[in-house]
This record gives sequence, structure tokens and C-alpha cells, in this order.
Amino acid sequence: MIRVNQVSFTYPNGTEALRDVSINIQDGEFLAVMGQNGAGKTTLVKLFNGLLKPSSGEVLVDNVDTKETSVAKLARSVGFVFQNPDSQLFCETVEEEISFALRNFGFDDLKVKKRVTWALNLLGLTEYRATSPFMLSGGERKRVALASVLAWDPKVVVMDEPTIGQDHRQKERLRQFIIQLNSQGKTVVIVTHDVEFVAECAPRIILMSSGRIVADGTGKEILTDPTTLTKASIVVPQITQIFLGLSDLGFPSDVIDLLSAKEIISERLISR
Ligand code: ADP
Repeated sequence: MIRVNQVSFTYPNGTEALRDVSINIQDGEFLAVMGQNGAGKTTLVKLFNGLLKPSSGEVLVDNVDTKETSVAKLARSVGFVFQNPDSQLFCETVEEEISFALRNFGFDDLKVKKRVTWALNLLGLTEYRATSPFMLSGGERKRVALASVLAWDPKVVVMDEPTIGQDHRQKERLRQFIIQLNSQGKTVVIVTHDVEFVAECAPRIILMSSGRIVADGTGKEILTDPTTLTKASIVVPQITQIFLGLSDLGFPSDVIDLLSAKEIISERLISR
């Protein structure tokens, strides 16, 4: 779905944000991009929908070179949910907000209405249909931004720091929602610092540091490897820290999520 071939990117002020980055993302994959501030994560994902074009190398989205097409066309395939929803929201009501892009993409009135109703329902926003997005909480505004992107049904959904501003319950809903989207065949890319959230989702993870990809693997491979995580200034998930500390007692050291932890501990207690 997305091919990044030997891409470097330098901002006009001379900051080299990406250095010789290559990565392939398959159709239907779920990927988390992690790394400390300034590592190049946002720059990388902005290449996916053509908001930025590589200084050298190439980015292909669904076999189309992003240098040879418009952001508007790419946006149809790659929906981008920004870190700060306020940079994305500008209409007077939630309904208008979600309708806006649909109209731009040329959907007729009936289809716009149907899609808006569907997206409001999907994200639990129906009661806010006629409300101004700016009257909503930060977490709700994030959901409006996500609803407006999902409404046009892009093949790829990129979310920059989706868990910021969400409380525990909202995060759990978001997690289930992302897993559901992905199981329905959508390619999902999240940029995040939230190691506990990633541990529960178990996507493929790439770790970035100083504009390069320093690791690429499954949730289990990456999150249970303290040496690799340190390179990207990411801490080991809490559950994993506990299990790493208990490995002398015969506990496995590759546990990243709560459910597996609970099963392993119960089995141990029952077999005593
Ligand atoms: P991350 O998302 O991992 O925090 P970014 O991709 O935002 O990293 O930034 C990578 C590097 O590029 C950083 O050094 C950052 O300061 C720089 N950078 C980001 N945006 C701009 C910009 N618009 N102009 C100049 N430098 C930028």
C-alpha cells in the first residue's frame, strides 16, 4: 500500500528530518511509529499523503508516486488525523465539519447525509450533530476529526498521537475501534509515544531516532527488547518490566499485554 524507498527529507531551514528511510506497509497492516520528540515520525507520515514530498528517494501510495499527484487525490486514499484536532476543525457544527470533505470529494447530498449519520454513530457523536466542535472537549474534538476522515472511507488511516487528551476509558474504546477498523481491512498507521497503548494493541512497530528507522518488528519483538527501546528513548511497558524482573522465577520475559499476564499468573497459581 505504501512504499518508501531511500527517502531523505530536509526542511527549508536546513533541518534534516529523515535520512535514507525505507519501509513497506502492506495493505491491511497495522503499524505504530514510535520514537522520541524530533525523531522524524510526523515528517515520515506526512509523506504518506503527499503533505510533504521527499527531498530525495520516492514514496509510492497504492503504486502512485506522491510527486506525480495532488494532495487532494492522495487524501482520498490516505486520511490523516492530526495530533491537534483544532488544526483540522473549522466549521460551525459537527455535521458541517464531517460533510465538508465529502462535498469536496463530490459526493451528492443524499450520500453526504448517509455518510455523516454513519460516522456520527460510529464514533458516538450523534448527540453533537448540531453542536459547534469548539464547544466539545479535547477528546471529543479528536473523535470529530477522526469521524470526518473515516466518513470518506480512505484505504489508509494515519493518526498522529491519537491517545493524547483521552482518558483511560476513551483510550480503551479507541483501541477497540482501531482494532475493528484494521480487522475490516483498513491499513492503520498510528504515531505515538504511548507505549502502554501500543502494548495492548500489538501492531507492527517501527522505532525512529534522529531521522532513521532503528528497529522494525512485531510488538513482542520490539517492546521486550530494552536495548533497542533505549535507542529510541522509549521505556519498556510496565507489564513487561514486571515479567522481565520475574524471569529468574521461570516466568516468560516476552509478555506485553494485560490479558496474557493475567492468564500466565492464573495458570501458575492454579498449578501450585
Ligand atoms: P516527531 O514527530 O518524531 O516529533 P518531526 O517529524 O516533527 O518529529 O520532526 C523531525 C525534525 O524536523 C525535528 O528536528 C523538528 O524540529 C524538525 N521539524 C519539524 N517540522 C519542521 C518545520 N516545519 N520546519 C523546520 N523543521 C521542522
